[in-house]
Amino acid sequence: MSLLTVSGIESWYGASQALFGVDLTVGEGEVVALMGRNGMGKTTTIRSICGLTPARKGRIVFSGSDITHQKSFRIARAGIGLVPEGRRCFANLDVSENLVATARPGQWTLDAVIELFPRLGERLSQSAATLSGGEQQMLAIGRALMTNPRLLILDEATEGLAPVVRDDIWRAVRSLKQSGLSILVVDKTLSELMPVADSCVVLEKGSTAWTGSPADLTAELQDRYLGV
Ligand code: ATP
Repeated sequence: MSLLTVSGIESWYGASQALFGVDLTVGEGEVVALMGRNGMGKTTTIRSICGLTPARKGRIVFSGSDITHQKSFRIARAGIGLVPEGRRCFANLDVSENLVATARPGQWTLDAVIELFPRLGERLSQSAATLSGGEQQMLAIGRALMTNPRLLILDEATEGLAPVVRDDIWRAVRSLKQSGLSILVVDKTLSELMPVADSCVVLEKGSTAWTGSPADLTAELQDRYLGV
């Protein structure tokens, strides 16, 4: 059974329609890459799944429950952990406060997050505002993990980060996949994204245009949909 099923969702920002029919599924333990050029609807799809820009049409089912019209805090509580674009850590809290702020019982504890990202362990009492971009991304991932989600959603997992930090983030994503966590991820670095993904969903103008395995995402399809 799939963990997340998004069927034909349509979403708007006020009077402006952004999604025109997005379909995707994430199976248990699967990593799904959500792809598409700028402005095609990746972030809006994620916002709709998380209840931040609720879908006005279509259906979102998570772990057997219809969450289409649930409040975002309930969706988080149901087991969807979001690492939003731009990270959005609590700037006036220190690293450990950021992490415990969202904590819920489960395998992900402060110690487990520090094991995944040792750099956070060296900065526990440092204000989040003073962290580097890469450290903030580690903190944002750690904070989402502290909710002990069944599905982790990463929007622009490594955008704007230095290459060495990107490596750390991808290493963490591979390790999370190995641990059996389901992940929906947006990132532009195909060379890192494709090896870790089990399937790809490509959006074009707010609709799902193509779904398949990374091996089937040919150079021609990449050229057509991603401009690579
Ligand atoms: P990017 O890679 O640039 O973040 P994306 O694929 O995530 O792009 P979205 O950010 O979901 O795309 O944007 C989808 C559409 O919704 C675009 O036409 C965009 O201009 C529009 N849009 C996004 N945010 C808003 C907003 N707050 N108000 C109005 N329109 C918006």
